[in-house]
Amino acid sequence: IQYVYEFGKKTDGDSKMKELLGGKGANLAEMARIGLPVPPGFTITTEVCTYFYDHKRSYPKTLAKEVKAAVTTVEKQLGKKFGDTKNPLLFSVRSGARESMPGMMDTILNLGLNDETVEALAQKSGNERFAYDCYRRFIQMYGDVVMGVQPESENDHEPFDEVMSQLKKEVKASEDNDLTVDDLKELIKRYKALIKKKTKGAFPQDVYEQLWGAVGAVFSSWQNERATIYRQKYNISAEWGTAVNVQAMVFGNMGDSCATGVAFTRDPANGEKVFYGEYLINAQGEDVVAGVRTPNPIAMLADEMPKSHAELVKVCAKLEKHFKDMQDFEFTIEDTVLYMLQTRNGKRTGLAAVRIAAEMVKERLINEKTAVQRIPADSISSLLVPVFDAAAAKKAKPLTVGLPAGPGAATGHIVFSAAAAERHAEDGVKCVLCRVETSPEDLRGMIASEGILTSRGGVSSHAALVARQMGKVCVCGAADVEIDYAKKTLRVGKTVLKEDDYISIDGTTGEIFAGQIPTAPSEVDQVLNGKLKPAKSYTFQMFDSVMKWADKYRKLGVRTNADTPAQATSAVAFGAEGIGLCRTEHMFFEGDRITFMRQMILAGDETERRKALKKLLPFQRKDFTGLFKAMGGRPVTVRLLDPPLHEFLPNDDAARRAVAEALNITPEVLTARIASLHEENPMLGHRGCRLGISYPEITEMQARAIFEAAAACLNAKKKVDVNVEVMVPLVGFAKELKLQSDLIHKVAAEVMEAKKVKIKYLVGTMVEIPRAAVRSAEIAETAEFFSFGTNDLTQTTLGMSRDDAGAFLGDYKELDILPQNPFASIDQAGVGKLVELGVEGGRSTRKNIKLGVCGEHGGDPASIKFFHGVGLNYVSCSPPRVPVARLAAAQAAL
Ligand code: ADP
Ligand code: MG
Ligand code: MG
Repeated sequence: IQYVYEFGKKTDGDSKMKELLGGKGANLAEMARIGLPVPPGFTITTEVCTYFYDHKRSYPKTLAKEVKAAVTTVEKQLGKKFGDTKNPLLFSVRSGARESMPGMMDTILNLGLNDETVEALAQKSGNERFAYDCYRRFIQMYGDVVMGVQPESENDHEPFDEVMSQLKKEVKASEDNDLTVDDLKELIKRYKALIKKKTKGAFPQDVYEQLWGAVGAVFSSWQNERATIYRQKYNISAEWGTAVNVQAMVFGNMGDSCATGVAFTRDPANGEKVFYGEYLINAQGEDVVAGVRTPNPIAMLADEMPKSHAELVKVCAKLEKHFKDMQDFEFTIEDTVLYMLQTRNGKRTGLAAVRIAAEMVKERLINEKTAVQRIPADSISSLLVPVFDAAAAKKAKPLTVGLPAGPGAATGHIVFSAAAAERHAEDGVKCVLCRVETSPEDLRGMIASEGILTSRGGVSSHAALVARQMGKVCVCGAADVEIDYAKKTLRVGKTVLKEDDYISIDGTTGEIFAGQIPTAPSEVDQVLNGKLKPAKSYTFQMFDSVMKWADKYRKLGVRTNADTPAQATSAVAFGAEGIGLCRTEHMFFEGDRITFMRQMILAGDETERRKALKKLLPFQRKDFTGLFKAMGGRPVTVRLLDPPLHEFLPNDDAARRAVAEALNITPEVLTARIASLHEENPMLGHRGCRLGISYPEITEMQARAIFEAAAACLNAKKKVDVNVEVMVPLVGFAKELKLQSDLIHKVAAEVMEAKKVKIKYLVGTMVEIPRAAVRSAEIAETAEFFSFGTNDLTQTTLGMSRDDAGAFLGDYKELDILPQNPFASIDQAGVGKLVELGVEGGRSTRKNIKLGVCGEHGGDPASIKFFHGVGLNYVSCSPPRVPVARLAAAQAAL
């Protein structure tokens, strides 16, 4: 097996080998192949990482020889030698997983420097200060990453930084750059002493020892906490492993004809086609990413180094033409010569994903199908996020403006630490994480907050990168904002805000406001609701094109779960083709109805119950009429009463007294009846069709309300078409459905006869307990449709309560028992198997049986892909997820 792949004059790999070489290694190889200036080097494969963990952190026998040979190739190509005391070759050692995990693992630069080679580098470059600056950086990185010299607690400073600050104080230097050569030599001495003190070991002088130390550190970092959290969040498998890239160093820090930067071929925040990015003159790469100095916008490079700028613009075009996607790349200019250090498909906001895909279709760089596949289905919802209410935002005066890094509007309490953000999130309090700059340690806090504000760092800083990927609202590099962690204050000019004060940030414009600002629906919403003309909103136009393409390719229908005409109307505007689930019980809580409902539940006998039901009938009829009108002939699945009855009962004394009075019974009798309805395990209790079996009059009333509403619509002067599907919940036995179905058909016939109208309707069932899936063939003799209720089906199949699973799902995920929350994304192997069984059985009895799914999974892209695969007719999800489902359904079909 080949463990080492070279790139440079001779290149072994290419961009298709991401699994083996990692994303970074594969693309370095590809760039070298298409003639871009890449410093030569080699990639140690991800298979070595797997080997490393399988063999007590050791390497395959042949690896050392392969590495040595690859080093020699680089030496020959550059005419330098690794560890040479005349013309030393230096390396960077970098991690690179299959998917990029920005900032998750550690890079070591300037490897190969020691007390002798540093002298040679000084001689050769004629720049002693540069050489010693590289050396002290290397010792610091190596000490931190490989030798583990790190702060002992969260509040401690970085130990190397502390040594540096102390020295700067002693020699009265204000910037790092003010340190003289002698200062740097002193610093190096102190760094080495620090390492000795903290590790009892010495900083290694042998360059191969350095190299193997760094390689081991990269492999080890694959299992560090940061990387593990990141993988969990993005469902990256721990088994993939990382590759290690060893690459000849080029120097952006050799003087003012040098620079280093990060750039995007398009704006990753809003997707606009502009050359975008930032750079620092006389700096090494990690200075840009770490947000230590705020870099200059790339446009300034056109003045400072016009030749390099022009060259970069050409590189952009070449990269996009070759990779056919927006690229995020890193470059270094050494003495006016440009080098490419990395390229990858750029992370982008949902908004940018849509815009870039839509515009690339127009530019004929990609076709519609590719565009549809390229937009993460979830990201379409970021076009639907609230913006600040226009009127309120106009009145509010921004305190200051930072860089817009993650679109959308966020408002919440100020917190200054990730820990505080997590605490707030646990209490359900919205907060905005305010930091000078963020580091990977802040990841948990960033996840927990509504938005992120930083005072330092540019658009490629850690905060911006992570926010873009998580779809978080983010404003970064707001230079006028002074954050004091010790005093817990945030100051802008004369305004001082304290921890827990409200702050509002606009990640689309970069504006920062004191206080809480109300938010408004997105532009897309505004257009769909007729409040904004389509021609006035470019965002809407993009949304519309993408949705049209998606509809062209998808096979699955998309319906919505809606209980009210307002929800239904909004879902139809989003493209819903019907209602897959109307939960009738949601209608029982409003106004007087709850009283009648309670009378019905607490009735002593059938006569009393029928009396109460009679009062409920007109309300239900009215609700259904509204819903049918809103849906204008599209299919509407109405589920009969499902929850256990005691959910409707009052639990405080005042309400109980009122109910007793209304029922004309004593509080004691009432209390006794309530007690008799108590259930130990209501989820598996007297609910669903079991209610209709015990009290057929409930089913009868609901059916009557449904069909009378249908008749009213059909008979109205302005006739409205109706297409209703009556759904019986929680069926496990064919007989249950048969009994309920007979009753429903009987009522339907009565209503049609009385109202002299023909109503188009179906009777079917929810498949939500395993027995129904197992006996589906038999049940389909009665059922004209199945709707897989995957929420309950998951609960009943896994025997896990959705409300209580939180207590252990974290452990399950960590131990890889369950890859993800089965209530968010369907457990394909288990619950999914039952769905397949249901489909098979249903179709075997009734060839054209209609099959759908309702429940959370109907809006989850991975689950949608699965449902497409098993051949369902439609999915149903909440109204705002409808566009996501349309796109995901198209992706499943392509
Ligand atoms: P990350 O994945 O966090 O971006 P990288 O491996 O890309 O980490 O390295 C971080 C920085 O180190 C890069 O921004 C780049 O500028 C710098 N760097 C990496 N390799 C080299 C090299 N061969 N020469 C000069 N700088 C380098
Ligand atoms: Mg990088
Ligand atoms: Mg259910």
